[in-house]
Amino acid sequence: MPFTHRHLIDTEALSRADIEIILDRAAGYAEQNRSKNKKNDKFNGKTSVNLFFEDSTRTRTSFEIAAKRLGMDTVCVPVAQSSISKGETLLDTALNLDAMQIDTLILRHTQDDAAQLVSARVKAHVINAGNGKRAHPTQALLDAMAILRRRGSLDNLTVAICGDIARSRVARSNIRLFKKFGADVRVIAPDYFMSDDFNALGVGIHTDLKSGIAGADAIIMLRIQHERDGLGIDFSKVAQNYISDFQLDHEKLKAAKPDALVLHPGPVNRGVELTDELADDPEHSVILEQVELGVAVRMAVIDLLLSQD
Ligand code: ASP
Repeated sequence: MPFTHRHLIDTEALSRADIEIILDRAAGYAEQNRSKNKKNDKFNGKTSVNLFFEDSTRTRTSFEIAAKRLGMDTVCVPVAQSSISKGETLLDTALNLDAMQIDTLILRHTQDDAAQLVSARVKAHVINAGNGKRAHPTQALLDAMAILRRRGSLDNLTVAICGDIARSRVARSNIRLFKKFGADVRVIAPDYFMSDDFNALGVGIHTDLKSGIAGADAIIMLRIQHERDGLGIDFSKVAQNYISDFQLDHEKLKAAKPDALVLHPGPVNRGVELTDELADDPEHSVILEQVELGVAVRMAVIDLLLSQD
């Protein structure tokens, strides 16, 4: 079955077969990225534009490297110094960039439906690089690839996601992806970091870390997103309790499978989500593998979208 999507908005719209096609294509690019010649000229002369309304280190650089390794020209719009600060709307900005005959528009925005809205109006292929609290599809795809590489299969895994669940687009995109592979997905958070919409996603809801990670194959630890809406809680007052109850360390990890994998989308707040010893333990932590595979996954996504033109 061919890959027929014009845009990548979320994992929700991808079938299991689509995900397998992306990860299969990405496997080839992961090899290319480790070889002497990291670059091909498949999309020479095509243009990729990064339009990021929120801060980013990994995702923005990763998309830029991915496009360059496919031979594309890349432009990053400096949002703070652009006409956006003069009051231009997201849609007008996108339409103006589109009028420059660009080929891919990589969009990060605070609004949950930004990529959806823009994709309905532009000719370029839109790739969602993180929208509000709702979706971050390439993060979920690269998480899946990191797990697939170590586990050999994505079928029927137990995947636990722990931390600031309520504000996490990474959690939501990962749940939608892993459920397609029959996973037992659990979310773990204190009540103040939980949100009702997870009840409808078919996941186990846990307020205790050890019971949430019991028997888990993979555990995704999430950062506390202080930059988003406040959730009505003064975190500084509960920080110590949060760390003692929810910070993952080698001792708590014993509740998971002995060879459980530990993931984190970054940026890691050292000393909060997980201990330094665990973050840097190559037996369990795949954090830097996630980053490496992120470039390959983004190359695969760009390739599959542009190949339809
Ligand atoms: N980098 C991820 C995101 O953009 C997670 C985070 O920021 O904590 O959603």
